[in-house]
Amino acid sequence: MKTIGYAATSCDAPLKPFSFERREPRNNDVVIEILYCGVCHSDLHQVRNDWHGTVYPIVPGHEIVGRVIATGPDVKKFRKGDLAAIGCMVDSCQNCDQCNAGQEQYCRQENTQTYNSPDRINGQNTLGGYSKHILAREEFVLHVPETLDLSRVAPLLCAGITTYSPLRNWNVGPGKRVGVIGLGGLGHMAVKLAAGMGAEVTVISRSDKKRADAFKLGAHKYLVSADDAAMHQTANHFDVIIDTVPYQHDLNPYTPLLDIDGTLVIVGQIGPLAETSSIPMVMGRRRIAGSLIGGIAETQEMLDFCGKKNILPDCEMIRMDEINEAFVRLEKGDVHYRFVIDMSSLAKE
Ligand code: NAP
Ligand code: ZN
Repeated sequence: MKTIGYAATSCDAPLKPFSFERREPRNNDVVIEILYCGVCHSDLHQVRNDWHGTVYPIVPGHEIVGRVIATGPDVKKFRKGDLAAIGCMVDSCQNCDQCNAGQEQYCRQENTQTYNSPDRINGQNTLGGYSKHILAREEFVLHVPETLDLSRVAPLLCAGITTYSPLRNWNVGPGKRVGVIGLGGLGHMAVKLAAGMGAEVTVISRSDKKRADAFKLGAHKYLVSADDAAMHQTANHFDVIIDTVPYQHDLNPYTPLLDIDGTLVIVGQIGPLAETSSIPMVMGRRRIAGSLIGGIAETQEMLDFCGKKNILPDCEMIRMDEINEAFVRLEKGDVHYRFVIDMSSLAKE
């Protein structure tokens, strides 16, 4: 099927309008007209080839919401006209222990990502949500609670689930103390979700600039990582720290903030860490862990949780042709707190 979107053709090229052909729908596919797509820092990493595996042209975008416009004959859970969402994955082997446990993100044969991943059947590179249409097998399509403001739902599909999954895995709830490093797209969702789960939430940011915002987003405390005295006073405090920093950074200032048995979960940077002392880990059974997005059932659980509690990201709506400017701002950390592309702007170009 023919569609249009925005693509980059090399790591230093701007995103530009791109007409392309998606595969024809299969019997188990749901075809979606995209209404909104969030802009994740991963989109920027992938366009810039920061992770060394980008195939060009790349159409980024894995925070997708829209309306179903067609379904294959075997599709059972969706009908034309339904609201629907797609996150970071569009397929997996559906057969291994991880897929059977609802952890398709850790599929033993690797999940198929929404963009920049070979399709499991035809091998073509997948192309993402900065486009007018997308399709995926129904197991990877989510239901969107009708009560939520649709224009703000998209970021839940990556920023939401990537922070919800570790919060759930490490049993965050009332009485738990959660720290969030980096108040960006993922960070601000971590704050809203952890507060929604009843935890005490502290934002750990590089400067004092986001203090007022942090409290508005639901944080209870604010810690400036450059303030050595404040960092020192917060030693042994957190049960869980969610680290969303996108670039290589020094973990040594943060690990002593964990209480005994506490865990620092890296969801941001993918790659080598700066030299890290083992002392806080050995002296207090503290852990450094990582976490990748979340499974499909867990993503639906997160959407339903947000539906019930009316938890939504703070979004800045942009037109598709403003994406290159948005990338520049994302690189500078100047986002409050997630860009969302209004896909109807694409039709007008
Ligand atoms: P973002 O909106 O740009 O937010 C990142 C925040 O980190 C910034 O707002 C800033 O907060 C802080 N920061 C930025 N540069 C920093 C630096 N050099 N040192 C310390 N702090 C810095 O990015 P995002 O969309 O939330 O994504 C964050 C990371 O998560 C990206 O690397 C992305 O690829 C990754 N990601 C991972 C998964 C996963 O499954 N694990 C899923 C999605 C995204 P302050 O100004 O408050 O310090
Ligand atoms: Zn993402």
